[in-house]
Amino acid sequence: MAHGIRINENACRGCVNCIKVCPTEAMRVIHGKVRILEDRCIGCGECIRSCRHRALSLQENDWDKVSSVRPITLASDPALFTQFPWSPNPAILDQALRGLGFEPIFEECSMVYDLAALAISRAIENGSATDLPMISTYCPAVVRLVQIKFQELLSHLAPVESPLETCIDLWRARHNKHDVPASLVVACPARVAMVEDPVGRDVSSADFVISTARITREILSRSHGIQESAERKAKDSRWLNWAMLGGETRHILHFAERPLRTLAVSGMKNVISLLQDIELHRMKGLDFVELRACDLGCIGGISNAESRFLSRLKIENYGYSPELSEEERETLESLYEAKIWKLQEEIRSIEQIPLGRDMAKAMEKLEELHSVYAELPHLDCGTCGRPSCRIMAEDIVRGEGSVDDCIFRLREKIAALSEEINGLSRRLVHTMTPEEKYENK
Ligand code: SF4
Ligand code: SF4
Repeated sequence: MAHGIRINENACRGCVNCIKVCPTEAMRVIHGKVRILEDRCIGCGECIRSCRHRALSLQENDWDKVSSVRPITLASDPALFTQFPWSPNPAILDQALRGLGFEPIFEECSMVYDLAALAISRAIENGSATDLPMISTYCPAVVRLVQIKFQELLSHLAPVESPLETCIDLWRARHNKHDVPASLVVACPARVAMVEDPVGRDVSSADFVISTARITREILSRSHGIQESAERKAKDSRWLNWAMLGGETRHILHFAERPLRTLAVSGMKNVISLLQDIELHRMKGLDFVELRACDLGCIGGISNAESRFLSRLKIENYGYSPELSEEERETLESLYEAKIWKLQEEIRSIEQIPLGRDMAKAMEKLEELHSVYAELPHLDCGTCGRPSCRIMAEDIVRGEGSVDDCIFRLREKIAALSEEINGLSRRLVHTMTPEEKYENK
């Protein structure tokens, strides 16, 4: 399973900073080198943020390979528009990109963000009454988190596909360019994983992924004479708002025909805490939750160079236009009827098998795990290369670690051994009397 992170083993110093911040305990440092457990990683990027040695980075496609296809068809996370010194108007970036040989498909992007918001609002209003809210599927890190840790909430994920997938499908259908490769600009490992290992569909519509950092560098170094006066379209402000926390909710509320109770939360700790509350049925009366792994939303994505606070200000200053023209409404309704917004497959759980599938053996191992855990110091210091003593015990029982990996247990063992050696060195040779031994010295 893809996780969207590139590991540079030569740069890894085994400092274990990353394993302490991983929200799903997906990291290990073994023999001084970091490893990621693919079936536990959600692609949140927290580990990349914490690595001071640049051993972890986004696993984007090689730029030379991507740019060898001309023109480069390009869809983008709206967070990209906030990365430049000029206004986040997509029309300005559209012009700059075309000048560099790209073919941006922002027209389709803005249409499908309207479509996703409409589809979610209708799914909420037409859904059966329940005391659990509908959960946004826009952040793929959150979707994976639900698949791994909150499986009871799977049926509450919005049945709406990521607009970043739908926009490429729509562009290909509208222009009859089914075989033309498309690139997606992303701000996080979760979106890289979304392309390599899609959820809710068989194959991603994107062929390549480029990080927001890479494309920003390319544009800033090669664009000259950016025209700030490029035409500004009202609908651009709606999809641009999805880049920051609350933008999706605002868009959904615009289409809702009754008042909806919503909550928008960002940052892994907050997201996990809210999902726990939802699972415990503590959030009754909520209709929809917008959850983002990154602080303040995708503008806080790991690959963005611009400050997320400045990005937020740029979006707020750009203004918001909820109005749709008659023509836009008609197009939207026909796309809604065509159901291109729908998830193609059910989102399934990602099974975690910590101690094996055989129930009897798993019970035996569980007992073993308790006794191994009882012997560990419960300091969760990380020097064994695991995020906690509990995980260390799990790894030992699975045969993927040894008690000697624990520095405290090893120290005790060395102390006991040296005491034994000391005792042995003082023991008499049994054929000699103490006097004889003294004389032979
Ligand atoms: S991306 Fe997130 S979940 Fe994956 S290893 Fe890094 S910190 Fe853990
Ligand atoms: S909030 Fe946005 S940038 Fe961050 S992990 Fe989710 S999709 Fe990626």
